[in-house]
Amino acid sequence: MTNEAWCRVRETLATRIGKNNYTSWIEPLHLTALEDGIAHFDVPTTFFGDWVSRNFSDHILALLNAEGHPVGRAEFSVPAQATVQIAPKPVTSKPARVTARRNDEDLPGASLDSRFTFDSFVVGKPNELAHAAARRVAEGGPVTFNPLFLYGGVGLGKTHLMHAIAHEIQIRQPHLRVLYLSAEQFMYRFVQALRERQIMDFKEIFRSVDVLMVDDVQFIAGKDSTQEEFFHTFNALVDQNKQIVISADRAPGEIKDLEDRIKSRMQCGLVVDLHPTDYELRLGILQQKAEIYMAQYKGLHISAGVLEFLAHRITTNVRVLEGALTRLFAFASLVGREITLDLAQDCLADILRASDRKLTIEEIQRKVAEHYNIRLSDMIGPKRLRNIARPRQVAMYLAKQLTPRSLPEIGRRFGGRDHTTIIHGVRKIEELMTSDSQLNDDLQLLRRLLQS
Ligand code: ADP
Ligand code: MG
Repeated sequence: MTNEAWCRVRETLATRIGKNNYTSWIEPLHLTALEDGIAHFDVPTTFFGDWVSRNFSDHILALLNAEGHPVGRAEFSVPAQATVQIAPKPVTSKPARVTARRNDEDLPGASLDSRFTFDSFVVGKPNELAHAAARRVAEGGPVTFNPLFLYGGVGLGKTHLMHAIAHEIQIRQPHLRVLYLSAEQFMYRFVQALRERQIMDFKEIFRSVDVLMVDDVQFIAGKDSTQEEFFHTFNALVDQNKQIVISADRAPGEIKDLEDRIKSRMQCGLVVDLHPTDYELRLGILQQKAEIYMAQYKGLHISAGVLEFLAHRITTNVRVLEGALTRLFAFASLVGREITLDLAQDCLADILRASDRKLTIEEIQRKVAEHYNIRLSDMIGPKRLRNIARPRQVAMYLAKQLTPRSLPEIGRRFGGRDHTTIIHGVRKIEELMTSDSQLNDDLQLLRRLLQS
């Protein structure tokens, strides 16, 4: 009954949104339930769900309503995959959870995105170390560094690399139990286990995996009992010589409110960072994705010139870069036009504008003040105390490095200081940088935060 209605909706959609869009986005949708005014769909990936939700859910809802099914919302979820799972222990754990569909949070692990493989990961200078380390872990063999700690700004490929490791291990050593999940899911599972008094099950599940991967671990900072449990899980696995892979948006030492003992455990393994992309890497990624899209949208072609333009102008992160390309192809196919530079500029105006955003001296002052825990007003104020003067000089140095402003201009923004004061501040930092590794770390972190 519902399915017939859905079939009719699909037919109408096919004529409304075009064959390409239909095949790419609607055909893979699987209607699983219509209840309480919500249409539930299974989708292959989260990305896919987001895209359909943003672009087609209004169409879908309108048509379902027209078919006599009163629905106000569509929900898209990725069904649990058989690939990442914990083999259920006979007595204690609940097999039903492992095979549960839809309710992702209820699973021990998150599902893997099948597109995030080593094959689809483009290697360049900024990520070659991280890539090599991930490969090494995926190849198995004796555990040489534990944990592997990957860090870097948003959208630079941390999650992609972790999924790639999981895929690769499953191919090479299918008997290994690989558990991938976000730190948030770890916490959720932990809290749930506490509430349902199943903490022993929880411990057993987490201590019985061969490879544990926890994504975005900065999330558990400040969450005391979760941290504690994580620490014990971590130690138990390391003691058994099981591989652990962790990701975070910054280096272990830079995560505020993370217990010191956890930080130092993290630093015992191999810590590698993913640097912001450079032009060549961005172009490489675009070329790879463009080929996929050209195969998918038959007849649509994107020239090298347009790809170069995008690589040059969109410098934020890979996720934004991909989003731009996806939109460009979808738009061109929807309106039946060729992908030209003009079309790209039209269709991506908002993304291009956001990427153009210039970093201001105020932003630098604010971030630096926040980092060193001083008042923003002290940045421009007259105090000469070392614990205020040093951060101020750091901000001066970053203002000189990251903005095109002249020294007198920078001086004006620092409470009307003379340009010679700015020169002095910049030199001081340059001098200290050669010997002070803490300062170096601070600068790296700040630069990354400001440029992400
Ligand atoms: P992070 O977890 O670091 O925030 P993700 O791994 O989610 O970033 O990456 C964001 C998007 O960019 C993903 O779709 C991913 O496939 C893509 N991506 C990032 N780096 C690369 C790369 N080097 N090659 C191909 N795709 C990449
Ligand atoms: Mg991620």
